[in-house]
Amino acid sequence: MSDPHWALVISDPHFGHVLGPVMPGLELPSRDDVEDVWRVERTAFQRQLADWWLADLAEARSIINGESTIALIIGDICHGDRAKYPDKELISDRGSVDQVLMAMAALEPLAEWDNVKAMRLCKGTGSHSFGRGSAELEVANRLQVKGMDAAAWYHMELTWGGVTLDLAHHGPSSGIREWTKGNVWRYYVRSIQDNCSRNGYTIPDAVIRGHFHERIIEHVPFYRQTETDWTWGILAPAYCGIDDFGRKVTRSKRILSVGMLLLEIHDGRIVWVHELLHGMDAARKEMW
Ligand SMILES: [Zn+2]
Repeated sequence: MSDPHWALVISDPHFGHVLGPVMPGLELPSRDDVEDVWRVERTAFQRQLADWWLADLAEARSIINGESTIALIIGDICHGDRAKYPDKELISDRGSVDQVLMAMAALEPLAEWDNVKAMRLCKGTGSHSFGRGSAELEVANRLQVKGMDAAAWYHMELTWGGVTLDLAHHGPSSGIREWTKGNVWRYYVRSIQDNCSRNGYTIPDAVIRGHFHERIIEHVPFYRQTETDWTWGILAPAYCGIDDFGRKVTRSKRILSVGMLLLEIHDGRIVWVHELLHGMDAARKEMW
């Protein structure tokens, strides 16, 4: 019996976007030579997301209860500078600095836990990372300066608490109909299991992806003659609202969830995926 291990999973917060979380009391460098600092005024939406974010971190901390954990951010930590309408979609019209500082303000509570063994960031979509994972590398760098074991890569195989985690930003979507949700994920995971088995690679205990801003959790068997291997297929939820682009590609998806996931690991097995989720309604309701 080994001590329980944990993995906190966060994805797609898109810091810097007007529909991303903005931490309370956020101060950014001055926009001119007159103000000392830029005290960012938050919208109700940015405040709500930040409140949920901080509540989730507090809840995760109490569930983990001092046991050893890693924190995984599955890409798109920032929104980047290639937004379709940068003057309308971004909080700041400067380069990467403000977005990276917004991300750091949000990760600060985590960096203070003394049971976080390491933080790993997946490099996200090029247009959201200032190209080639720059945003994730910059955040990892700043976390390192704070004494955290932090790094950013495109695709990782991490072994933690006896389980193997396969992480990358891009993977399959959730499916477009309620009753087909997760189907493509099961095929994707089965294909990875098969490919690993044929080629002598370790079949991962979890395959974790982001990018689609929706959560899918599937537990997929791989049958052998005398035993069954299991892999969790996890599409991590986002931590931001739905923008013009998101509304278009999801054909006006209305019922949304944002939040974090927490993997509980006992004796070399992922025994549960805890969901710290919040419901969002993308429709404005009016009644007369
Ligand atoms: Zn994203």
